[in-house]
Amino acid sequence: MSTVLVVNSGSSSLKYQLLDDAERVLGSGLVERIGGAGTITHRGPDGEVVVDADVPDHTAALALMMRTCAAAGLDLAPDVVGHRLVHGGARFSAPVVVDDEVEAAVEELADLAPLHNPPGLLGVRAARQAFPGVPQVAVFDTAFHATIPPEASTYAIDADLAAERGIRRYGFHGTSHEYVSAEAARFLGREGRFVVLHLGNGASACAVSDGRSIATSMGLTPLEGLVMGTRGGDLDPGAVLHLLRTGMSVDEVDALLNRRSGLAGLTGSGDLRDVLAAASSGDPRAELALDVYAHRIRGYVGAYLAHLGGLDALVFTAGVGENSPEVRARVVEGLAHLGLQIDPASNSARDRGARAISPDGAQVPVLVVPTNEELQIARHALAAVAPR
Ligand code: ADP
Repeated sequence: MSTVLVVNSGSSSLKYQLLDDAERVLGSGLVERIGGAGTITHRGPDGEVVVDADVPDHTAALALMMRTCAAAGLDLAPDVVGHRLVHGGARFSAPVVVDDEVEAAVEELADLAPLHNPPGLLGVRAARQAFPGVPQVAVFDTAFHATIPPEASTYAIDADLAAERGIRRYGFHGTSHEYVSAEAARFLGREGRFVVLHLGNGASACAVSDGRSIATSMGLTPLEGLVMGTRGGDLDPGAVLHLLRTGMSVDEVDALLNRRSGLAGLTGSGDLRDVLAAASSGDPRAELALDVYAHRIRGYVGAYLAHLGGLDALVFTAGVGENSPEVRARVVEGLAHLGLQIDPASNSARDRGARAISPDGAQVPVLVVPTNEELQIARHALAAVAPR
């Protein structure tokens, strides 16, 4: 039996999951507040344990993970480690086994993903130390979108400058869109033309044609596209210029766009549950935020329907997409002319797995498909080291 350890490393947190080659989860957990007095929460067959410990850096986080797993009776001796990395740039269009050269190449891409790639690399480096000789596979959020055609990935700016600086649409959440579109095809018993809506803290839409991404709403960075928890998505770049010219610094604009926009900017909270609660108690700002959120999504659904030349399923996933019947209903409302309708009873049923929420015999099925990025990373990591 082979086991695979999946590591998703952020700047101050590290999520992990150990799976076997039958895709059973043997244990999982989260180290939080790396950089100081931290905590690990580990879940295994015997339940959950929470341990406080000093966690100065990512190496210490992995050591804490190994100690906690051992104490819980879980022998951490993975055959391969799969890492979530955000930005693979133009170079990495598939998972890759990490060596020093790959590590250096990912480091160079930090310019494009300053918030995400450096913490991912800290996890890679710590795991290479903790598990010497064990292959480490980097799985990039951008990779699934490598099939997007040039007309959908090209920004219409100075072509030489764009090529020199790598400015184009890369797209993100690829691991989720790949997993969810494959699960949707499995659920329906056929491939087809799908729009997948990954609605979590970050949010993106993806047009998938027979298993290949042909368009997605995030761009050079995860700032573009849909309204998110703290990011506003599409914005006239002229607004950025205006803010810079009228006295805001680059860092201030960065903070505005990454942390004080989206639902948080419109309502004060980036958590959709708060926004729904505020709207139901009559807060007009929250009601407007929900309208903007759904309006933006509907625009992408329409655009992608045109790009795909038709639609065989609309698929909701991630925290909001999987859990909020109200948001799903708001998105689909008024789209009956596109063959899209929701059955209120199936929409509000508390089922967990992949399911249809459109009426029986609907022209275009509307599905909810839970995402599982860890499992998709595990599959890629095992495949990358499998004998050919
Ligand atoms: P991340 O992008 O960090 O992985 P998730 O996919 O977990 O995030 O999504 C987090 C979002 O999901 C939050 O905005 C949260 O409000 C929302 N969410 C979770 N459960 C519900 C629910 N029952 N109803 C509405 N929104 C929910």
